Amino acid sequence: MILDKNSCSRIIENLHDGLYWVDRDRIIQYWSRAAEKISGYAAAEVVGRSCSDNILTHVDHDGNSLCCGLCPLAATIGDGVTREAEVFMHHKHGHRVPVSVRVSTLTDEDGIVIGGVELFTDLSNLKAIEVKVKELEEMAMLDGLTRLPNRSCIEKELLVRFEERKRFNTRFGILFMDIDHFKIFNDTHGHDVGDQVLRFVADTIVNNSRAFDAVGRWGGEEFLGIIRNVTPPQLKDLGNRFRLLIENSYICQDEDRLHVTISTGATNVRDDDTLDTLLKRADTLLYDSKRAGRNCLTLG
Ligand code: GH3
Ligand code: MG
Ligand code: MG
Repeated sequence: MILDKNSCSRIIENLHDGLYWVDRDRIIQYWSRAAEKISGYAAAEVVGRSCSDNILTHVDHDGNSLCCGLCPLAATIGDGVTREAEVFMHHKHGHRVPVSVRVSTLTDEDGIVIGGVELFTDLSNLKAIEVKVKELEEMAMLDGLTRLPNRSCIEKELLVRFEERKRFNTRFGILFMDIDHFKIFNDTHGHDVGDQVLRFVADTIVNNSRAFDAVGRWGGEEFLGIIRNVTPPQLKDLGNRFRLLIENSYICQDEDRLHVTISTGATNVRDDDTLDTLLKRADTLLYDSKRAGRNCLTLG
């Protein structure tokens, strides 16, 4: 059976994964409905523009931009080899979405490469997040602005982790994260833009966390993550991943990209810890990161 053009278009439009293709100059020629949903960009906003042009700007696990020299799509157009990678895509609202991408070449009838195709799957834990949000809403434990668990919810979660530790000797760590120079950001760009930043920072952390970890808004521009079953080096790696993803996220204002960075205090629970000593230590470590110049993590 050979499918006609209309059937093929319908199949592509109904794909759960995002799909787009570019010509040899990486100008986007097609943008599917799922691509719109995952990225937040409508086809009309991206078709005709370069994929590196403030749109997708993929970064890798270490926060390196893939647009300058490391772009899998450009590499595939160059050498014809199909590639797969896990990268972090820029969402129109600023946060980073973890996606797995598969890229291959687009060829004409004579087999000449005329561009590249990228199929991408959203890896964020959306279903788990949806269920969590609904539960928290019912219990009034959700922060209105970021839709993250609020402070009282995170405090309760921490007490549960202490109880679990007493009974089963499980380990956990916490990440205390604070946006750098946020007062200056608000003063420069306005409170509403500041609110958008708080939302994208929150979304970046949540979308890139594991389903069984908890991240909440501790206060103003402070977030607290409870990371289960981690060693100190793993906690450090995870905290640095959040930090790099946030550093490499942005919202667009006219032609400007607005960024923020975070400083982090990271610590694992100790045998003699209480809720207060654990939080106090994380707070002191966060302060050490601020003193060390900000946009860094201190593990202790
Ligand atoms: P540091 O790097 O030392 O953390 O500096 P900072 O400016 O981030 O810290 P400071 O505690 O001086 O200021 C925190 C700022 O966060 C001031 C306040 O206006 C802003 N902020 C707190 N909550 C919100 C909010 O809900 N929305 C917005 N837009 N800003 C907020
Ligand atoms: Mg603060
Ligand atoms: Mg701050």
